[in-house]
Amino acid sequence: MAQLEILTEGHPLLRQKALPVKKITKRLLKLAGDMEETMRAASGVGLAAPQVGVGVRLIVLDVGEGPIVVFNPEIIDRDGQDVDVEGCLSIPGVNGYVERSAWVKVAGLDAKGKPLVIEGTDLLARALQHEIDHLDGVLFTDKATSIVAVEEEEKADESGVPRHT
Ligand code: ZN
Repeated sequence: MAQLEILTEGHPLLRQKALPVKKITKRLLKLAGDMEETMRAASGVGLAAPQVGVGVRLIVLDVGEGPIVVFNPEIIDRDGQDVDVEGCLSIPGVNGYVERSAWVKVAGLDAKGKPLVIEGTDLLARALQHEIDHLDGVLFTDKATSIVAVEEEEKADESGVPRHT
């Protein structure tokens, strides 16, 4: 596996709608593995393919319960509201408060191309919504009610839960 370059805000690919995956090829599986490695190296909890320069509907997540890979993820149900702080590996240096659904149910395909359904609350729900937004060219700063600069000391504090996705 290899670490990939994470595109930052201003790159046009971050604003494009990603294309559905028609067939899960070896190349896409390698991409998913490389994305996992890249996410871990950056202490992120999620990463979407457009963030590494590939305009396909693929996300990887790990909120501390093991890696999740979803091709063509789609929110099929949601409930409640939750406002919390989040950040993005593509927008370094800022966090923002974003309202998200408190619970989501996401359908997609796993790495073997089998149908997959994930339900989540808290950080998993937030990360799923954040990553799926990336596939539609939406960044958290579009939705945030307030944006704050991340303090240098906070960045250096490794005891904090990584929320950058
Ligand atoms: Zn992000």
